[in-house]
Amino acid sequence: MRVNAYAAPAAGRPLAPTTIERRDVGPNDVLIAIQYAGVCHSDIHTVNGDWGPQPFPVIPGHEIIGTVAEVGAHVTRHRVGDRVGVGCMVNSCGECANCRNGDEQYCLDGTVFTYASPDRDGTRTQGGYSTHIVVDAGFVLSVPDSLDPAAAAPLLCAGITTYAPLRRWGAGPGKKVAVVGLGGLGHMAVKLAHAMGAEVTVLSQSLKKQEDGLRLGADHYHATSDPGTFTALAGRFDLIVNTVSADIDTNAYLGLLTVDGAMVNVGVAPSPMSVNGSLLGSRRVLTGSMVGGIAQTQEMLDFCAEHNIGADIEVISADQINEAYERVLASDVRYRFVIDAATLA
Ligand code: NAP
Ligand code: ZN
Repeated sequence: MRVNAYAAPAAGRPLAPTTIERRDVGPNDVLIAIQYAGVCHSDIHTVNGDWGPQPFPVIPGHEIIGTVAEVGAHVTRHRVGDRVGVGCMVNSCGECANCRNGDEQYCLDGTVFTYASPDRDGTRTQGGYSTHIVVDAGFVLSVPDSLDPAAAAPLLCAGITTYAPLRRWGAGPGKKVAVVGLGGLGHMAVKLAHAMGAEVTVLSQSLKKQEDGLRLGADHYHATSDPGTFTALAGRFDLIVNTVSADIDTNAYLGLLTVDGAMVNVGVAPSPMSVNGSLLGSRRVLTGSMVGGIAQTQEMLDFCAEHNIGADIEVISADQINEAYERVLASDVRYRFVIDAATLA
């Protein structure tokens, strides 16, 4: 079927309306009528060429919420009318050790990402800034009805990307967790770590968003522009989740960890980093994490429904997308833009 969408025509060029063909619904597919699509900083990195050449035109969007419009003959887990979501991936081999382990995002045969990725049928995937999408049922999540659909869209990337390392590194009662950067991912990390029972500290460039940070669930808030922050908090945190989309002084942040403390990079910095004795001292761990597997994404959605957690969002019409990108780049987002797909119809 032919559907409306917004696409980046070339690297760094403004997004513009277009139409694309979605494949016919195969026996294992679900056709989703999209209601909302979140705007992730990864969309911007991709279309701006930060991550190398892309198969333009690219339709970004991997925080997708909608309702099931049609299912293939073999699909049993989703029914027409169900509220569903799609995150950063739409397929994987299903057979390698990582897929069998529930880590489809690390598929050894190559995860199929939601956009700009070679699909298993040889075509290129196109994402959620669109009215409809066809996705293999195994990569379609059930979204609990109690969640507001627009506020739930960012859970599909910002939510799972922060939930996975918080779980992996044991965020919970008695643990001190720092979140670096209070943007889309950062504000979800604060909400989730707080709901898990951890003591949460925001480390933001300035104190501009302090009131928000405390309202979102942080216990403490510090400005990283103040060098005193790094002396006052030395050796403090069990876990640091770094959501920053720019280069930061990794060694300075490592110095804030306890013995055996871990710093997890989820933000994608442009330059390679160099680490030194700050890693050896106190036996610290520096690691990274990319989104989360399908089963854990479902677990995260159910956790959010149980704790009544959604993103803080600003709903925009599709024609506001280029302005929204500028605002994300200026750290002027509170805290996720979400496209109302009805404005694409
Ligand atoms: P975002 O909303 O723009 O948030 C990033 C935050 O980083 C900003 O709000 C800002 O927070 C801080 N920041 C920005 N520039 C900075 C600078 N020069 N120095 C220090 N801090 C700075 O972006 P997002 O959507 O949350 O995504 C964040 C990063 O995660 C991006 O690189 C994205 O590609 C990546 N990502 C990774 C995964 C994964 O699977 N690992 C998934 C999704 C996204 P303050 O204003 O509070 O300082
Ligand atoms: Zn994302």
